[in-house]
Amino acid sequence: MFNRRINVTESFIPPMKDYTKYLQKAFDSKWLTNRGQLTIDLEDRLREYLCLNNILLTTNGTIPIQIALKLLADKGNVITTPFSYIATASTIIWENCSPTFVDIDPDFLTIDESQIESNITPNTKAILVTHVFGNPCNIDVIEQIARKHKLFVIYDAAHCFGVKYNGKSIFNYGDISTCSFHATKLFHCGEGGAIICNNKDFTEKVFYSHNFGHDGPLSFHGLGINGKISELQSAMGHAVLDNMSNIIQARKKVVNLYRINLENPNIKFLKIREGTEWNYSYFPIILNDENTLKKIEDLLNKEGVFPRRYFYPSLNTIEYLKGPRMPISESISTRILCLPLFAGLTQKEVNSISSLILKCL
Ligand SMILES: *Cc1c(COP(=O)(O)O)cnc(C)c1O
Repeated sequence: MFNRRINVTESFIPPMKDYTKYLQKAFDSKWLTNRGQLTIDLEDRLREYLCLNNILLTTNGTIPIQIALKLLADKGNVITTPFSYIATASTIIWENCSPTFVDIDPDFLTIDESQIESNITPNTKAILVTHVFGNPCNIDVIEQIARKHKLFVIYDAAHCFGVKYNGKSIFNYGDISTCSFHATKLFHCGEGGAIICNNKDFTEKVFYSHNFGHDGPLSFHGLGINGKISELQSAMGHAVLDNMSNIIQARKKVVNLYRINLENPNIKFLKIREGTEWNYSYFPIILNDENTLKKIEDLLNKEGVFPRRYFYPSLNTIEYLKGPRMPISESISTRILCLPLFAGLTQKEVNSISSLILKCL
Protein backbone atom coordinates (compact mmCIF):
# COMPACT_ATOMS: atom_id res chain seq x y z
CA MET A 1 0.00 0.00 0.00
CA PHE A 2 2.92 2.34 0.80
CA ASN A 3 6.27 2.30 -0.96
CA ARG A 4 8.17 3.78 1.97
CA ARG A 5 8.22 3.78 5.75
CA ILE A 6 6.09 6.62 7.13
CA ASN A 7 6.86 7.95 10.60
CA VAL A 8 4.78 10.32 12.70
CA THR A 9 7.00 13.08 11.42
CA GLU A 10 9.92 13.64 9.10
CA SER A 11 12.38 16.47 9.69
CA PHE A 12 12.24 19.12 6.99
CA ILE A 13 15.52 18.74 5.11
CA PRO A 14 16.46 21.94 3.28
CA PRO A 15 18.32 21.73 -0.03
CA MET A 16 21.99 20.98 0.73
CA LYS A 17 23.14 24.05 -1.21
CA ASP A 18 20.98 26.33 0.99
CA TYR A 19 22.42 24.78 4.13
CA THR A 20 26.01 25.00 2.89
CA LYS A 21 25.47 28.63 1.88
CA TYR A 22 24.90 29.46 5.56
CA LEU A 23 27.45 26.98 6.85
CA GLN A 24 30.09 28.60 4.65
CA LYS A 25 29.80 31.78 6.76
CA ALA A 26 30.76 29.87 9.90
CA PHE A 27 33.66 28.22 8.05
CA ASP A 28 34.88 31.56 6.67
CA SER A 29 34.78 33.30 10.03
CA LYS A 30 36.21 30.25 11.88
CA TRP A 31 33.63 31.02 14.59
CA LEU A 32 31.53 28.02 15.56
CA THR A 33 29.62 29.06 18.68
CA ASN A 34 29.42 31.75 21.43
CA ARG A 35 26.81 33.91 19.72
CA GLY A 36 28.41 34.22 16.31
CA GLN A 37 26.92 36.16 13.41
CA LEU A 38 24.66 33.30 12.25
CA THR A 39 23.04 33.14 15.68
CA ILE A 40 22.64 36.93 16.00
CA ASP A 41 21.15 37.04 12.47
CA LEU A 42 18.79 34.15 13.16
CA GLU A 43 17.53 35.87 16.32
CA ASP A 44 16.89 39.02 14.25
CA ARG A 45 15.03 37.07 11.58
CA LEU A 46 12.92 35.18 14.13
CA ARG A 47 12.10 38.35 16.10
CA GLU A 48 10.74 39.84 12.90
CA TYR A 49 9.09 36.68 11.53
CA LEU A 50 7.29 35.97 14.81
CA CYS A 51 6.71 39.61 15.88
CA LEU A 52 8.58 39.35 19.19
CA ASN A 53 10.20 41.91 21.44
CA ASN A 54 13.04 39.57 22.29
CA ILE A 55 14.22 36.01 21.75
CA LEU A 56 17.30 34.20 22.97
CA LEU A 57 18.32 31.08 21.08
CA THR A 58 19.43 28.08 23.11
CA THR A 59 20.91 24.67 22.42
CA ASN A 60 17.60 22.84 22.98
CA GLY A 61 14.10 23.34 24.36
CA THR A 62 14.73 21.85 27.81
CA ILE A 63 17.49 24.13 29.11
CA PRO A 64 15.21 27.19 28.76
CA ILE A 65 12.60 25.54 31.02
CA GLN A 66 15.32 24.82 33.57
CA ILE A 67 16.55 28.42 33.42
CA ALA A 68 12.98 29.72 33.82
CA LEU A 69 12.36 27.49 36.84
CA LYS A 70 15.73 28.35 38.39
CA LEU A 71 14.97 32.08 38.16
CA LEU A 72 11.24 32.12 38.87
CA ALA A 73 10.35 29.10 41.02
CA ASP A 74 13.27 29.03 43.50
CA LYS A 75 12.89 25.40 44.66
CA GLY A 76 9.22 25.99 45.46
CA ASN A 77 6.05 24.34 44.35
CA VAL A 78 5.06 24.51 40.68
CA ILE A 79 1.55 23.95 39.35
CA THR A 80 1.75 21.97 36.12
CA THR A 81 0.00 19.71 33.64
CA PRO A 82 0.16 15.90 33.56
CA PHE A 83 -0.43 15.94 29.78
CA SER A 84 2.80 17.02 28.12
CA TYR A 85 6.20 15.75 27.11
CA ILE A 86 8.33 14.49 30.01
CA ALA A 87 10.59 17.59 29.89
CA THR A 88 7.81 19.77 31.33
CA ALA A 89 7.78 17.74 34.55
CA SER A 90 11.33 16.35 34.72
CA THR A 91 12.78 19.88 34.71
CA ILE A 92 10.73 20.66 37.84
CA ILE A 93 12.38 17.80 39.70
CA TRP A 94 15.80 18.58 38.18
CA GLU A 95 15.57 22.13 39.58
CA ASN A 96 14.63 20.80 43.03
CA CYS A 97 11.12 22.17 42.80
CA SER A 98 8.01 20.09 43.49
CA PRO A 99 5.20 19.58 40.98
CA THR A 100 1.51 19.84 41.76
CA PHE A 101 -0.44 18.30 38.90
CA VAL A 102 -3.79 19.73 37.87
CA ASP A 103 -5.93 17.69 35.45
CA ILE A 104 -6.67 18.82 31.89
CA ASP A 105 -9.64 19.93 29.84
CA PRO A 106 -10.90 16.96 27.77
CA ASP A 107 -11.45 19.04 24.60
CA PHE A 108 -8.54 21.49 24.54
CA LEU A 109 -6.09 19.08 26.29
CA THR A 110 -4.53 22.02 28.15
CA ILE A 111 -4.63 22.45 31.94
CA ASP A 112 -8.12 22.79 33.44
CA GLU A 113 -7.76 26.37 34.63
CA SER A 114 -10.82 26.07 36.91
CA GLN A 115 -8.86 23.66 39.16
CA ILE A 116 -5.71 25.74 39.51
CA GLU A 117 -6.72 28.04 42.36
CA SER A 118 -7.72 25.30 44.80
CA ASN A 119 -4.27 23.75 44.37
CA ILE A 120 -2.30 26.88 45.28
CA THR A 121 -0.46 26.71 48.64
CA PRO A 122 1.80 29.23 50.43
CA ASN A 123 4.75 27.39 48.85
CA THR A 124 3.47 27.78 45.27
CA LYS A 125 5.84 29.93 43.23
CA ALA A 126 4.94 29.41 39.59
CA ILE A 127 2.58 27.91 37.05
CA LEU A 128 4.35 25.92 34.31
CA VAL A 129 1.93 24.79 31.62
CA THR A 130 2.07 23.55 28.04
CA HIS A 131 0.22 24.91 25.02
CA VAL A 132 -0.44 21.32 23.93
CA PHE A 133 0.02 20.66 20.17
CA GLY A 134 0.16 24.44 19.67
CA ASN A 135 -3.28 24.90 21.25
CA PRO A 136 -3.17 27.79 23.73
CA CYS A 137 -4.00 27.31 27.42
CA ASN A 138 -6.71 29.58 28.77
CA ILE A 139 -4.19 32.39 29.02
CA ASP A 140 -6.64 35.05 30.21
CA VAL A 141 -7.78 33.10 33.27
CA ILE A 142 -4.28 31.81 34.09
CA GLU A 143 -2.88 35.33 34.07
CA GLN A 144 -5.69 36.57 36.31
CA ILE A 145 -4.97 33.82 38.84
CA ALA A 146 -1.23 34.48 38.67
CA ARG A 147 -1.68 38.20 39.31
CA LYS A 148 -4.04 37.59 42.21
CA HIS A 149 -1.71 35.11 43.93
CA LYS A 150 1.59 36.72 42.83
CA LEU A 151 2.79 33.68 40.91
CA PHE A 152 5.06 33.60 37.88
CA VAL A 153 3.79 32.03 34.67
CA ILE A 154 6.03 29.91 32.46
CA TYR A 155 4.64 28.54 29.21
CA ASP A 156 6.20 25.47 27.65
CA ALA A 157 5.49 26.62 24.10
CA ALA A 158 7.63 23.90 22.48
CA HIS A 159 4.88 23.18 19.93
CA CYS A 160 3.99 26.79 19.21
CA PHE A 161 6.26 28.11 16.47
CA GLY A 162 4.18 30.63 14.52
CA VAL A 163 1.05 30.38 16.70
CA LYS A 164 -0.81 33.61 17.36
CA TYR A 165 -3.39 34.16 20.09
CA ASN A 166 -5.66 37.21 20.11
CA GLY A 167 -3.59 38.81 17.38
CA LYS A 168 -0.12 38.46 18.87
CA SER A 169 2.57 35.81 19.05
CA ILE A 170 1.82 33.27 21.73
CA PHE A 171 5.46 33.61 22.84
CA ASN A 172 4.63 37.12 24.06
CA TYR A 173 2.50 35.71 26.90
CA GLY A 174 3.67 34.67 30.35
CA ASP A 175 6.70 35.87 32.30
CA ILE A 176 8.71 33.43 30.22
CA SER A 177 7.81 31.29 27.20
CA THR A 178 10.10 28.57 25.89
CA CYS A 179 10.26 26.78 22.56
CA SER A 180 12.00 23.74 21.09
CA PHE A 181 13.69 23.65 17.71
CA HIS A 182 14.38 19.91 17.87
CA ALA A 183 14.53 18.04 14.56
CA THR A 184 11.02 16.66 15.09
CA LYS A 185 9.46 20.07 15.60
CA LEU A 186 7.76 22.33 13.03
CA PHE A 187 10.70 24.72 12.77
CA HIS A 188 14.04 23.16 13.68
CA CYS A 189 17.80 23.60 14.00
CA GLY A 190 18.50 19.85 14.34
CA GLU A 191 18.69 20.55 18.06
CA GLY A 192 17.80 23.99 19.33
CA GLY A 193 15.39 26.07 21.32
CA ALA A 194 14.52 29.52 22.52
CA ILE A 195 13.58 31.48 25.58
CA ILE A 196 11.34 34.52 25.35
CA CYS A 197 11.33 36.62 28.51
CA ASN A 198 8.43 39.02 28.81
CA ASN A 199 9.26 40.12 32.37
CA LYS A 200 11.71 43.02 32.19
CA ASP A 201 13.13 42.26 35.64
CA PHE A 202 14.47 38.94 34.36
CA THR A 203 15.59 39.58 30.76
CA GLU A 204 19.21 40.22 31.73
CA LYS A 205 19.30 37.35 34.20
CA VAL A 206 17.99 34.97 31.54
CA PHE A 207 20.71 36.09 29.15
CA TYR A 208 23.53 35.66 31.68
CA SER A 209 22.10 32.34 32.87
CA HIS A 210 22.45 30.75 29.43
CA ASN A 211 26.18 31.56 29.24
CA PHE A 212 27.68 30.42 32.56
CA GLY A 213 26.78 33.78 34.13
CA HIS A 214 29.58 35.55 32.21
CA ASP A 215 29.27 39.31 31.93
CA GLY A 216 32.77 39.58 30.46
CA PRO A 217 35.58 37.14 29.79
CA LEU A 218 36.83 37.41 33.38
CA SER A 219 33.77 38.40 35.41
CA PHE A 220 30.47 36.87 36.39
CA HIS A 221 27.00 38.26 36.90
CA GLY A 222 25.83 35.22 38.85
CA LEU A 223 25.20 31.51 38.49
CA GLY A 224 24.74 30.18 34.97
CA ILE A 225 24.77 27.11 32.78
CA ASN A 226 25.81 26.45 29.18
CA GLY A 227 22.63 26.81 27.12
CA LYS A 228 24.23 28.33 24.03
CA ILE A 229 23.23 27.37 20.52
CA SER A 230 26.09 26.75 18.06
CA GLU A 231 26.62 28.36 14.68
CA LEU A 232 26.13 24.95 13.04
CA GLN A 233 22.65 24.71 14.56
CA SER A 234 21.82 28.28 13.59
CA ALA A 235 22.88 27.58 9.98
CA MET A 236 20.25 24.84 9.83
CA GLY A 237 17.71 27.23 11.35
CA HIS A 238 18.32 29.79 8.60
CA ALA A 239 17.93 27.19 5.86
CA VAL A 240 14.68 25.85 7.36
CA LEU A 241 13.28 29.33 7.98
CA ASP A 242 13.72 30.15 4.28
CA ASN A 243 11.07 27.49 3.58
CA MET A 244 8.73 28.11 6.50
CA SER A 245 5.63 29.35 4.68
CA ASN A 246 5.77 26.37 2.27
CA ILE A 247 6.16 23.97 5.19
CA ILE A 248 3.09 25.34 7.00
CA GLN A 249 0.99 25.40 3.79
CA ALA A 250 1.87 21.77 3.01
CA ARG A 251 0.97 20.68 6.55
CA LYS A 252 -2.30 22.59 6.41
CA LYS A 253 -3.31 20.57 3.33
CA VAL A 254 -2.56 17.29 5.12
CA VAL A 255 -4.54 18.33 8.22
CA ASN A 256 -7.53 19.46 6.20
CA LEU A 257 -7.57 16.18 4.27
CA TYR A 258 -7.40 14.11 7.48
CA ARG A 259 -10.25 16.19 8.92
CA ILE A 260 -12.47 15.41 5.93
CA ASN A 261 -11.47 11.73 5.67
CA LEU A 262 -11.81 10.97 9.38
CA GLU A 263 -15.07 12.74 10.15
CA ASN A 264 -16.66 9.97 12.22
CA PRO A 265 -18.66 9.72 15.48
CA ASN A 266 -15.94 7.48 16.97
CA ILE A 267 -13.07 9.88 16.34
CA LYS A 268 -12.57 13.14 18.20
CA PHE A 269 -10.28 15.90 16.94
CA LEU A 270 -8.38 18.45 18.99
CA LYS A 271 -10.55 21.49 19.72
CA ILE A 272 -8.61 24.67 18.96
CA ARG A 273 -9.27 27.58 21.32
CA GLU A 274 -11.10 30.57 19.84
CA GLY A 275 -8.82 33.47 18.92
CA THR A 276 -6.00 31.15 17.82
CA GLU A 277 -4.07 31.27 14.58
CA TRP A 278 -2.85 27.66 14.70
CA ASN A 279 0.32 26.18 13.14
CA TYR A 280 -0.70 22.64 12.04
CA SER A 281 2.03 21.16 14.23
CA TYR A 282 0.37 17.87 15.21
CA PHE A 283 -2.69 15.88 14.22
CA PRO A 284 -3.95 13.88 17.22
CA ILE A 285 -7.08 11.73 17.11
CA ILE A 286 -8.88 10.72 20.29
CA LEU A 287 -10.54 7.30 20.18
CA ASN A 288 -13.16 5.71 22.41
CA ASP A 289 -10.82 3.24 24.08
CA GLU A 290 -7.26 1.90 24.14
CA ASN A 291 -8.21 -1.32 22.33
CA THR A 292 -9.27 0.61 19.26
CA LEU A 293 -6.05 2.60 19.43
CA LYS A 294 -4.00 -0.59 19.57
CA LYS A 295 -5.93 -2.10 16.65
CA ILE A 296 -5.20 0.99 14.57
CA GLU A 297 -1.57 1.07 15.63
CA ASP A 298 -1.07 -2.63 14.78
CA LEU A 299 -2.68 -2.35 11.37
CA LEU A 300 -0.73 0.79 10.44
CA ASN A 301 2.54 -0.68 11.73
CA LYS A 302 2.01 -3.78 9.53
CA GLU A 303 1.81 -1.43 6.54
CA GLY A 304 4.96 0.44 7.59
CA VAL A 305 3.20 3.46 9.08
CA PHE A 306 4.23 4.60 12.56
CA PRO A 307 1.92 7.06 14.32
CA ARG A 308 2.97 8.05 17.83
CA ARG A 309 1.23 7.89 21.21
CA TYR A 310 1.66 11.55 22.26
CA PHE A 311 1.37 11.87 25.22
CA TYR A 312 1.63 8.58 26.98
CA PRO A 313 1.82 7.89 29.85
CA SER A 314 0.15 10.65 31.83
CA LEU A 315 3.07 12.30 33.69
CA ASN A 316 1.51 11.92 37.17
CA THR A 317 1.88 8.13 36.82
CA ILE A 318 5.66 8.24 36.33
CA GLU A 319 7.47 6.75 39.30
CA TYR A 320 9.64 9.71 40.30
CA LEU A 321 6.75 12.18 39.90
CA LYS A 322 4.26 10.30 42.12
CA GLY A 323 1.22 12.48 41.56
CA PRO A 324 -2.36 11.77 42.62
CA ARG A 325 -4.83 10.32 40.08
CA MET A 326 -5.63 12.58 37.11
CA PRO A 327 -8.69 10.88 35.62
CA ILE A 328 -9.00 12.92 32.42
CA SER A 329 -5.33 13.05 31.53
CA GLU A 330 -4.91 9.32 32.30
CA SER A 331 -7.94 8.40 30.23
CA ILE A 332 -7.02 10.56 27.22
CA SER A 333 -3.40 9.46 27.23
CA THR A 334 -4.49 5.84 26.68
CA ARG A 335 -6.69 6.78 23.69
CA ILE A 336 -4.83 9.50 21.80
CA LEU A 337 -2.73 8.90 18.71
CA CYS A 338 -0.79 11.47 16.67
CA LEU A 339 -0.99 10.68 12.95
CA PRO A 340 1.84 11.19 10.45
CA LEU A 341 2.08 14.88 9.56
CA PHE A 342 4.88 16.55 7.62
CA ALA A 343 5.51 18.48 4.44
CA GLY A 344 6.02 15.80 1.79
CA LEU A 345 3.32 13.40 2.98
CA THR A 346 1.25 12.86 -0.18
CA GLN A 347 -2.51 13.11 -0.58
CA LYS A 348 -2.54 9.45 -1.61
CA GLU A 349 -0.69 8.46 1.56
CA VAL A 350 -3.07 10.48 3.76
CA ASN A 351 -6.03 8.81 2.05
CA SER A 352 -4.58 5.32 2.56
CA ILE A 353 -3.75 6.00 6.23
CA SER A 354 -7.27 7.34 6.75
CA SER A 355 -9.00 4.33 5.22
CA LEU A 356 -6.91 1.91 7.29
CA ILE A 357 -7.97 3.79 10.44
CA LEU A 358 -11.65 3.73 9.49
CA LYS A 359 -11.44 -0.05 8.96
CA CYS A 360 -10.61 -0.50 12.65
CA LEU A 361 -13.65 1.31 14.04
C1 LIG B 1 10.09 18.70 22.46
C2 LIG B 1 9.53 19.18 23.73
C3 LIG B 1 10.35 19.65 24.79
C4 LIG B 1 11.84 19.50 24.80
O1 LIG B 1 12.51 20.12 23.79
P1 LIG B 1 13.97 19.62 23.38
O2 LIG B 1 14.37 20.62 22.34
O3 LIG B 1 13.86 18.23 22.84
O4 LIG B 1 14.84 19.72 24.59
C5 LIG B 1 9.73 20.20 25.91
N1 LIG B 1 8.40 20.25 26.02
C6 LIG B 1 7.58 19.79 25.05
C7 LIG B 1 6.10 19.90 25.22
C8 LIG B 1 8.13 19.22 23.89
O5 LIG B 1 7.32 18.70 22.96
